[in-house]
Amino acid sequence: MPKLSAICSSCGACANACPRGAITMHLDMEGFYRPSIDSDICSKCGTCERVCPWLNDVVNPNNSSRTPKTVAAFAKNEEVRLASSSGGIFTVLAEQIFDEGGVVVGVAQLSPTHFGHSVVDNKVDLAKLRSSKYVQADAGLIYKQVRSLLRDGRKVLFSGTPCQVAALYAVLGENHFENLTTVDIVCHGTPSVKVWQKYVDEIQSTANDNLVKSFFRDKQFGWRKFSLKNIFASDNISSLDLDQDKFMQVFLHNCALNKSCANCHYGKLPRIADVTLGDYWNVADVHPEMDDDKGTSVVLLNTAHGEGLFAKIAGQIKQCDSSLEKAVAGNPCIVRSSKEHFRRYEFFADLDKLTMDELVKKYCVRLPLYKILLLKIKKKLLDR
Ligand SMILES: Cc1cc2nc3c(=O)[nH]c(=O)nc-3n(C[C@H](O)[C@H](O)[C@H](O)COP(=O)(O)OP(=O)(O)OC[C@H]3O[C@@H](n4cnc5c(N)ncnc54)[C@H](O)[C@@H]3O)c2cc1C
Repeated sequence: MPKLSAICSSCGACANACPRGAITMHLDMEGFYRPSIDSDICSKCGTCERVCPWLNDVVNPNNSSRTPKTVAAFAKNEEVRLASSSGGIFTVLAEQIFDEGGVVVGVAQLSPTHFGHSVVDNKVDLAKLRSSKYVQADAGLIYKQVRSLLRDGRKVLFSGTPCQVAALYAVLGENHFENLTTVDIVCHGTPSVKVWQKYVDEIQSTANDNLVKSFFRDKQFGWRKFSLKNIFASDNISSLDLDQDKFMQVFLHNCALNKSCANCHYGKLPRIADVTLGDYWNVADVHPEMDDDKGTSVVLLNTAHGEGLFAKIAGQIKQCDSSLEKAVAGNPCIVRSSKEHFRRYEFFADLDKLTMDELVKKYCVRLPLYKILLLKIKKKLLDR
């Protein structure tokens, strides 16, 4: 049996499905959510293992096995588009669900260092879910909550990482709900909460101020050269672009990702959700008319159900037909996991010892080939 930390995606399906509430999720030494079982309450019924999306293959009941229809798109509403990570398609889909009387589930920044799933039922509160938060989200008991909403006949749009969408379907089990539409993001991995906490401690101490809110994809210098904007209690703002910001550096170099992200079971074809959203990074090459550096989404319509919802927002978006091949050429995470940083173990061993600046200097640099080979051999030995 592999180590829990190597296979657990932190999705929380087990905690949601446990009939006795014996499982709670806690941050491990690296800062990822892991299940902890209260052996006094556990009846060893095995439900947790039966719903685990890493121990079982979960499928979308709307059948996502077809080749997805692929579209390049962005919201016509410029304010929405600029406040979103890519083209703002998530917001337009969500607003359509509100117009139909439904609710939307997505990830919000619940406190400066706590990110988690929330249910929203109106367009004003939708701002909380808008935009990517590059920190692992706490699913809490969201799948149980979605199940209750669906049983009450509510229409639900659920969004999250591919493993979280798989977790939702696993918890819903045999029950097929027509009222549920799922959106997964193209995800190259979820970063550790502990790394984010360390970064926040450092920026708060430098600013001598408390962090209130963060925007991971601020577009003041454009969509491609996005920056991480932090707003403090005094209203002071710090903003550094992706090449300068220490947190973005360790995130984009894959140092700080959950170990299971390098072997993601759901971030590939067939995609698990009805609709997949990501950045159409190479849109300038393949659909130049869709690029003005304000953000363009790649949209995969994986099921007829997802395509049906997408058809309803045609008036609010600009779109052009594309192909899976073109999109994958600029965004391989659509079909495969990102690579684990070959010094991930060392990075986490150093996390409590080094500053963010020292971590970046040590792990986010190019090394000579002979050093890379030696370190790769060391990693192979440690992986055994
Ligand atoms: C951790 C992470 C890694 C990503 N990696 C890639 C990548 O490698 N390539 C790529 O093309 N796109 C990636 N994305 C997705 C991309 O950043 C946009 O979220 C996506 O293009 C949708 O953009 P939008 O403009 O339509 O809407 P937005 O409003 O920007 O989308 C917000 C959506 O993201 C969800 N979300 C936000 N933070 C989290 C979180 N921490 N966990 C789960 N769901 C979250 C919200 O629930 C909402 O559905 C990643 C997103 C996250 C959160």
